[in-house]
Amino acid sequence: MASVAFLGLGIMGYPMAGHLKNKGGHNVTVYNRTRAKAEQWVAQHGGCFAATPAEAAEGKDFVFSCVGNDDDLRSVTTGAGGAFNSMKKGAIFIDNTTASAEVAGELAQQAQALGFAFLDAPVSGGQAGAENGMLTVMVGGEPDAFDRAKPVIDAFARMVGLMGSAGAGQLTKMINQICIAGLVQGLAEGIHFGKQAGLDIEKVIEVISKGAAGSWQMENRHKTMNAGKYDFGFAVDWMRKDLGICLAEADRNGAKLPVTALVDQFYKDVQAMGGKRWDTSSLLARLEK
Ligand code: NAP
Repeated sequence: MASVAFLGLGIMGYPMAGHLKNKGGHNVTVYNRTRAKAEQWVAQHGGCFAATPAEAAEGKDFVFSCVGNDDDLRSVTTGAGGAFNSMKKGAIFIDNTTASAEVAGELAQQAQALGFAFLDAPVSGGQAGAENGMLTVMVGGEPDAFDRAKPVIDAFARMVGLMGSAGAGQLTKMINQICIAGLVQGLAEGIHFGKQAGLDIEKVIEVISKGAAGSWQMENRHKTMNAGKYDFGFAVDWMRKDLGICLAEADRNGAKLPVTALVDQFYKDVQAMGGKRWDTSSLLARLEK
């Protein structure tokens, strides 16, 4: 049993912290900017909450974070009242936010100078994966810190991989998002075409999902797409944040991402339609406009 802090009890962080307490059996202190959520978490799971990230992190062996973007991550780590002000030597900070490889490198360096380790560890698997403790975790950092952290991360994951040094977890998550972007647009176009052709979409998907076109998105999203239901899931705003990170990294490393850049603009259209919080499968709504 380890002493653990978790910063950021959003859609993902709330259940992840729950698994660390209940499945992992760890002593968990939580912090959330909006205090009511931290109070609710403690009422549900026990443990305790802290008023600042620094207070939550003090004396802990492992400190997790799952906040929004680079700036939010800087705020809970190196900002005023941030966790880096109180991390104990030899501890490990594990960041589950989807952020840039740049901020991961920057924080890993600062952590090393302060005498603790930093792992960038973004996740994939969505809200359902977080709630079921079945996330995929892509980690960047030093192997010894990874080996110590993995048994703790396992409480909310079904796959945890060390991808390379600092930033490699975030780079792997970028590949994940690049692969999803074009695929969801393809699925949206397929369903749109099927509707225009007057076919029974359920029947079409039942058959083609068993062949070469099958995908997680097809299996898990076709029903809601067919019903025009998007008020759940992975928000378009978050996807645009992620694709922005991918496109900026591609500018640096010279990769060509023509489809990713195009789909990013399609998501901009969805935002303009009022779909900022809609699931990413709402690319179909844009075609049906
Ligand atoms: P969310 O529900 O919007 O939660 C964000 C959390 O971060 C909240 O606890 C929020 O606190 C906190 N936060 C944001 N900015 C902060 C700041 N400046 N200082 C302190 N706390 C701050 O988001 P989510 O869906 O859990 O996603 C979290 C991260 O995981 C994002 O990077 C996202 O891209 C990634 N992710 C999400 C999914 C998904 O399906 N949702 C899947 C994979 C990866 P408040 O409660 O006070 O707002």
